[in-house]
Amino acid sequence: MNTSGELGRTIPAVKCKDCGTPHPKGIAACPACGSMNLEDYEARGTGAIYTYSVNTFVPMGKHKARAPYCMAVVETDDKMRITAIVEMPDANTAKIGDKVQFKAYEDKLTPIFERV
Ligand SMILES: [Zn+2]
Repeated sequence: MNTSGELGRTIPAVKCKDCGTPHPKGIAACPACGSMNLEDYEARGTGAIYTYSVNTFVPMGKHKARAPYCMAVVETDDKMRITAIVEMPDANTAKIGDKVQFKAYEDKLTPIFERV
């Protein structure tokens, strides 16, 4: 798994061999068609915010100091949707369609993108 901070990298993912839809890793079947015929795939690291929310209050845990931050569904340029944190100087300026780039997995679990 890619975990460094290098920009422009791909995202370890899977792709459905039956319908061709890419998905984040960790699924047993394709949400689009139900097929279990999945193969490893490297998704594009560039995309745009599909939808988002701004988390302004985090009562505890590792993201407490990060608030306010942008939690988004990012659609990569090859049409994979992935839930991720999008870093930007002011989360309240986030907009649907903002261009983003994959940065790294934080703690090998949370995908981090940055707005470009
Ligand atoms: Zn499928």
